[in-house]
Amino acid sequence: MSNHNNTMSSEETEKLFQRYVIPNYGRYPISLVRGEGPYVWDAEGDRYLDLFCGWGCNLLGHCPPAVVEAVRAQLGRLIHVPNTWHTELQGLWAKALSERSFGGQAFFCNSGTEANEAAIKLARLHNAPRRRYKIITFEDGFHGRTFGSTTATAQPKYHEDLGPLMAGFVYAPFGDLDAVTKLIDDETAALMIEPIQGEGGVRLPPDGFLAGLRELADRHELLLIFDEVQTGCGRTGDWFAYQGFGVVPDVMTLSKALCGGLAGGAMLTTAEIAKSLRPGMHACTFGGNPIAASAGLAFIEAVERDGLLENAKRLGEVFRSRFEQLRGECDLVREVRVRGAMIGVELSIEGAETVRACLERKLLVNCTHETVIRLLPSMNLTEQQAHEGCDILADVLKKQAGNHLSAQ
Ligand SMILES: *Cc1c(COP(=O)(O)O)cnc(C)c1O
Repeated sequence: MSNHNNTMSSEETEKLFQRYVIPNYGRYPISLVRGEGPYVWDAEGDRYLDLFCGWGCNLLGHCPPAVVEAVRAQLGRLIHVPNTWHTELQGLWAKALSERSFGGQAFFCNSGTEANEAAIKLARLHNAPRRRYKIITFEDGFHGRTFGSTTATAQPKYHEDLGPLMAGFVYAPFGDLDAVTKLIDDETAALMIEPIQGEGGVRLPPDGFLAGLRELADRHELLLIFDEVQTGCGRTGDWFAYQGFGVVPDVMTLSKALCGGLAGGAMLTTAEIAKSLRPGMHACTFGGNPIAASAGLAFIEAVERDGLLENAKRLGEVFRSRFEQLRGECDLVREVRVRGAMIGVELSIEGAETVRACLERKLLVNCTHETVIRLLPSMNLTEQQAHEGCDILADVLKKQAGNHLSAQ
């Protein structure tokens, strides 16, 4: 139990923020105080069904017991030691990730953007002998907020007023293999892509696109980097999304759900490529610390113990059939895109109002790319809870469709 008991109303907490917290986020006027599974409670005691669990980080729901117990026990043993020492936990965590992916090695950090920075540096270091440095990334992608990752993020709205950005990034349209081919030159070092664009609207790659990138990478000896910060760790019903597409990257970045809700990040690559990240060239003070490692291991164990990869796939089918049905009934729903517990519902209108209406009905969803309702539910959600959420969202959208018609 936390020693700090919440005593303030949402409004009082909001006032505290207005005075003391930099307002770089758009926040709802609600203070959350507690979470359990797919539910969170606010300071007024209202309960919400959370289908956008911690921006996708809480893939086992809020406060998953397995992670809570592992972390509690570890907190009393060893919290942090520098990476100048070995810890058994970090070694076991790297082994567990390696065995579930492509058999490589891990570098640990604390966030998605840091994992991508590591990948960008690795791409430069690996290609330095051939004087190659350019990285091709994809329009509407998202890779994080530090300067390298911001530059890798090919969306003008995130670049505004920040220039000059980092040199050496080139942008291609997502899904356009010909365009990528034309952009490759003697200085190209790597291709970096989200196998499914998350922030860009849950956009699935066209058939054969990722395999085509793999071929291009092989032909031109480029590193193929998959940013699986959002798609990885079981989100799509496979341990990693690349497995579902049958295309293996050279480098993969992870964060978000990696530690079951705690901060953690990782970059995985083959032992051969990893040699290029030679000692002294990169580091992360808190990376792979015993708390993150214990949480990361507990997360993996819980997913496998409870058969949650299969459950994520099952949930995907529930959401797909519910929203496909809704598409037939409601003009506002244009397209439904689903991969396991990663769900995008493309609307014909902007989604901000839908999100607000759901919030009033005590349902938490997200809107991305203006028109896409994005759900990143926990993978241990029950079918009944999934239906509970779908009922509310369907109701909200049908009402909106009605208003939309009468407004015309
Ligand atoms: C969230 C996200 C990031 C950035 O992660 P942070 O932990 O916020 O730095 C990078 N890539 C993808 C695909 C993401 O979804």
